[in-house]
Amino acid sequence: MAQITLEFPDGRTQAFNSGITVAEVAKSISVSLAKKAVAGKLDEKLVDVREPLLTDGKLEIVTADSNDGLMVLRQSAAQLLAAVVKREFAGVRLGRLAADEDGFYVDTEKDERQISADELDGLAAQMQRVIRDNAVVNRVMLNKADALTEVSGDRYQTELVEAEAADEIPFYEIGGQLVLAQVVAAPSLKALKHFKLLSVAGAYWEGKSSNPMLQRLYGTSFYKATDLEADLQKRQEARERDHRVIGNNLDLFFVDPKVGAGLPYWMPNGATIRRTIERYIVDKELANGYEHVYTPVLANLDLYKQSGHWEHYREDMFPPMEMDDDEMLELRPMNCPSHIQIYNHHIRSYRELPLRIAELGMMHRYEKSGALSGLQRVREMTLNDGHTFVAPEQIQEEFKRILNLMMDVYHDFDIDNYTFRLSYRDPKNTEKYFDDDEMWNKAQSMLKGAMDELGLDYVEAEGEAAFYGPKLDVQTKTALGNEETLSTIQLDFMLPARFDLHYVGEDGQEHRPVMIHRGLVSTMERFTAYLIEIYKGAFPTWLAPKQVQIIPVSEAKHGPYAHQINEQLRALHVRSAVDERSEKMGYLIRDAQTHKIPYTIVVGDDEVQNHTVSVRKYGEEDSRELPMDDFQVEIMHDISTYSRN
Ligand code: ATP
Ligand code: ZN
Repeated sequence: MAQITLEFPDGRTQAFNSGITVAEVAKSISVSLAKKAVAGKLDEKLVDVREPLLTDGKLEIVTADSNDGLMVLRQSAAQLLAAVVKREFAGVRLGRLAADEDGFYVDTEKDERQISADELDGLAAQMQRVIRDNAVVNRVMLNKADALTEVSGDRYQTELVEAEAADEIPFYEIGGQLVLAQVVAAPSLKALKHFKLLSVAGAYWEGKSSNPMLQRLYGTSFYKATDLEADLQKRQEARERDHRVIGNNLDLFFVDPKVGAGLPYWMPNGATIRRTIERYIVDKELANGYEHVYTPVLANLDLYKQSGHWEHYREDMFPPMEMDDDEMLELRPMNCPSHIQIYNHHIRSYRELPLRIAELGMMHRYEKSGALSGLQRVREMTLNDGHTFVAPEQIQEEFKRILNLMMDVYHDFDIDNYTFRLSYRDPKNTEKYFDDDEMWNKAQSMLKGAMDELGLDYVEAEGEAAFYGPKLDVQTKTALGNEETLSTIQLDFMLPARFDLHYVGEDGQEHRPVMIHRGLVSTMERFTAYLIEIYKGAFPTWLAPKQVQIIPVSEAKHGPYAHQINEQLRALHVRSAVDERSEKMGYLIRDAQTHKIPYTIVVGDDEVQNHTVSVRKYGEEDSRELPMDDFQVEIMHDISTYSRN
């Protein structure tokens, strides 16, 4: 009989008869291991304990108490859900099913009404019933013809079966249903009690937007009830922080795919937050030696041919507009070429360097539709952009200056949860990156040198650089747990060469400057999304769309005083308003809290008499009565110091 050689995690190798199963191998090691085995892992791929092994390889026995064990649990859950869906909805078609760190999912399609979120609890109850009544999972091998008969009428399963190279195709029999084995299921579902079906969302078949959209049913599962509870709690918190949910509740912005995906509309509340950020950052930059400009979003395509964007960045660009006179106009994906025009408009002297040109620059990028998310990733965005043109010997110093400015800004916004990433090119990818080894090595080692000198921790990532140079990216986490770049500082020797930039040196000769690209607070879109999430919508006073809500106890008696203090605050540019609705006081106060307004002021007889206000700060239980003058001092101090609530 043919033999195979298996290598175990401890490096030991052993020969077995070909066709031995994972379960039998586990038993040969120890009976207790065989009992605990939920799957095998052969050369990094999970395999069913009942699968006959026919080739040499590295084998690990997977038990519940490991990350792989958790994957097997979730894969089993996906197979179980697929079986239950098939039983509950005659004629349903099944797409992909899978499991990952987040949970598991099954894609489904029905002829008429699709499965909705309301039906998840019912499906979960059916799953529990199968686990209770007959938790056994049988593995059934069908030859290809039988397999095709079994899945006939389901174009997706048929496609999957047809794509199988083997003659024998595994199915699982669960709760009386045969379902194609797309992943591995444990032989018993007994351990699967602690799961939850979470949500339903559209997903294209095989991820292609030209394919039909299926309904993806999401769930998650754990071995322990406490782990499941902790995970559900975390998800709840993430939902509460999700900038799309808060953006809707506080009427900050909206995106209407019918009008254009990734093209947000800023409502007055959101626009106020954005305007405050914009004013803040422009003032900050002006104070730090930047010169602010305005440049057009449209330019002749030749500009982007010269810069290299057309060659290296075309995938992310909107197609050019062909005009009457054969002119090709392009929506800019980056502002760098525009600022280069500003630099080049005059002959520059070494005395002007570092020359810092900044702009709230609007740009357009054709991001993939699946990647778009609220304000976080959009197709039209305004970057807090800046390019400093420096002499080569000024790089280090300027880099540090930018970094310090960035940290100063972070401090004002109370941002402290971020990490640094040095993003290098992938030297093999010559299509994406300018091909000039010397320049890349120089730029990358300079950036690393500067970070080391500053003693800052960072991770290094190959293939994340801009096409023209390496970057220092500042990474943050979104509520949904995705890592996103917020700020970025990029070193660039390429564009100055491409545009033949010069300055006249002390020696009277022409020299080439180096460009540093930098975005301090990212795009207005992404930054606002980020702030919504870290503040959970409770913006500090200086950023809050409405800073003060004034509630008169009786509109007739206290209205005039309420309006008088409102005018006083507005004269100081405080965003305040009088709530004139004739609702109960308790309701109006609660409503101000729901809208996360930093200060709620109530005025009644005492306040009118004493020229005072009763103030309740967001998040505080009690209110304080204080003279109106003192309140003015307090709120102005609060605003001018960017104080956190
Ligand atoms: P990413 O890797 O996030 O796609 P990038 O490396 O292409 O970004 P840059 O060209 O460095 O981005 O753009 C500057 C900054 O603009 C990024 O650091 C990011 O904060 C922000 N940004 C980039 N793309 C988008 C987008 N589609 N929507 C919102 N903000 C964006
Ligand atoms: Zn740039």
